Amino acid sequence: MCIFCDICEGKIPSKKVYEDDLVLAFDDINPVAPVHTLVVPKKHFDDIIDLSSNDDGTYLKACMNAVTKVCEEKKLEQGFRVINNCRENGAQSVMHVHFHIIGGLKLSEKML
Ligand code: 5GP
Ligand code: ZN
Repeated sequence: MCIFCDICEGKIPSKKVYEDDLVLAFDDINPVAPVHTLVVPKKHFDDIIDLSSNDDGTYLKACMNAVTKVCEEKKLEQGFRVINNCRENGAQSVMHVHFHIIGGLKLSEKML
């Protein structure tokens, strides 16, 4: 059982921002900024290492394309941050790879 697979299959509702055959982008249920959208491949990969090892680039490219679509939809032309949390030390809580798009404010230069 995987929450993000269920969201991709429409079994759990989400606020969709962008969708195509390969990816879904939807608003985070617990936003940390005015814009906080998640980009998720529709195929299950556990994390970014799984994605970069076991995808031929198709899903990774689709995710990056979705970043552009979210940027347009959310009017983030002045900038934003893309975050991937990987595994335990990266504080990954949902084990289906996803990219956080954080924006709508001026972010600090500090990463932590
Ligand atoms: P992680 O900590 O794995 O990098 O990020 C997981 C994110 O998924 C968190 O920001 C959390 O708020 C979000 N999230 C967890 N469950 C749900 C859900 O059911 N719906 C939505 N929209 N976001 C979720
Ligand atoms: Zn999944």
